[in-house]
Amino acid sequence: MATIIDGKKCAEKILDDIKNRVSNLTQKPGLSVILVGCDPASSVYVKNKEKKALETGFNSSVYKLPENITKEELLALIEKLNKDDTVDGILLQLPLPKHLNPSDFLDKIDPKKDVDGFHPVNSGKLLNNEKPYAISCTPKGIIRLLESYNIQIEGKNAVVIGRSNIVGKPVSMLLLNKNATVTIAHSKTKNLSEITKKADIIISATGRANMVTSDMVKEGAAVIDVGIIRGNDGKLKGDVDFNSVKDVAGFITPVPGGVGPMTIAMLMENTLELHLLNKENQR
Ligand code: NAP
Repeated sequence: MATIIDGKKCAEKILDDIKNRVSNLTQKPGLSVILVGCDPASSVYVKNKEKKALETGFNSSVYKLPENITKEELLALIEKLNKDDTVDGILLQLPLPKHLNPSDFLDKIDPKKDVDGFHPVNSGKLLNNEKPYAISCTPKGIIRLLESYNIQIEGKNAVVIGRSNIVGKPVSMLLLNKNATVTIAHSKTKNLSEITKKADIIISATGRANMVTSDMVKEGAAVIDVGIIRGNDGKLKGDVDFNSVKDVAGFITPVPGGVGPMTIAMLMENTLELHLLNKENQR
């Protein structure tokens, strides 16, 4: 039976530490979140981020913009926030309405305020194994979970299922930079189970239920489930068939309570780190 990786507990510890550090600062870190339209899931995510930012002692502002906002108007807001010294982190909640192309806006956020780590300067630094101003929150949280449970990365075979810019690719780079041998699988990958069966670490980020079943997992492997799927019963589940895989794996993350809480904790950590960096630069 696998050790269940407790992302909630790990995240709470990190957030307590951030709260303590923030209480000693004269100026509070500032996080600005931009929400365009009224996608229900995005609205919940933004509300949770604002709540956590305020609990952590940050200044938090949420800009709720109408669905039909123009490209120029959204760019003007980003420009305004880029110039505002009280704003340390800018987060543009995705997805955007269809008439807006995310990269037109993500590329305009100041890389030193890019709290999600999506700007090409930050993803490029990750690719070059240099320190980005901020590392994408979910990938950073996954590595932190592995390290918290002393799961060795160096020299291990890691398989990442999914190649999105927000999870699959950045987490693959982080694992590679930590000297894992990394395979990235995607929807066109053939014989996926033959690949996953050789993995010491499996990270599944597809949003497809039962993507990883027990017959795909080597005994003792660490299985990290990034997927978030709302079942017909209204409950959240992940990519991994938790009940069967937990009997084979050495470590496993639950959904909910695994990667999700770490994503929010890393967002707060990134905001604090960017605040300290920006204050240093203003001196
Ligand atoms: P995405 O952009 O839709 O990417 C999904 C990836 O899965 C794609 O690369 C796709 O391959 C691959 N894929 C789909 N079907 C597959 C199959 N049958 N076999 C192998 N690969 C397959 O999704 P995302 O934004 O990365 O998010 C993935 C999941 O993580 C979602 O459920 C999302 O809600 C969740 N998520 C959770 C957190 C968190 O904090 N817990 C944060 C972010 C995302 P192709 O590239 O070939 O299409």
